[in-house]
Amino acid sequence: MIPNYCLKCGHELETRNISNVDRRACPACDFVFWGDYSIGVGAIVIKDDKILLVRRAQEPGRGRFTLPGGYIEQFEPIEETVIREVKEETGVIAKVSSVVALRDQPRAVHNIYVVFAMDYVSGDVLPDNEEVDQAGFYSLEDMTSMNVADLTRWLVHIAYSKTRSGLQPDPAPIVPLQGYGLYRV
Ligand SMILES: [Zn+2]
Repeated sequence: MIPNYCLKCGHELETRNISNVDRRACPACDFVFWGDYSIGVGAIVIKDDKILLVRRAQEPGRGRFTLPGGYIEQFEPIEETVIREVKEETGVIAKVSSVVALRDQPRAVHNIYVVFAMDYVSGDVLPDNEEVDQAGFYSLEDMTSMNVADLTRWLVHIAYSKTRSGLQPDPAPIVPLQGYGLYRV
């Protein structure tokens, strides 16, 4: 969505060429509309060689099985988002192991989806019956007869590939960088 009015002061926006790109900008304050972006997170939680999947109860993707996940909040560290979403949707407590995949989707709302490998900690699987109406740990064989989203199939393949590398959280960066979530090879 491209706004017609300033999100800061409400003045009508004008089109301004900034570094060779036409942007919507406010003539009354310093607001510039740089674009519309969203960031989603997904979790690969494996237990006894089975992967935690949820069945979406809402659009988009209603009726399809996907990884548990959701969208980041403005001031919430991404690691907390993925832990929270897994717990909310499935009741499972899991902790972040690494970042294993990223999907970029440039469109009207440019979306980036970051996928974490997570270690199961505790909890019985219990769908929230709001965002998801079914949840469980499923094997590859189980999935053959399930309506699994294509992107999820790609991620399941990654989950079962034996390379266990990925970006790891850096608890002790060589430079103190306050307020950052840092992941590295
Ligand atoms: Zn303004």
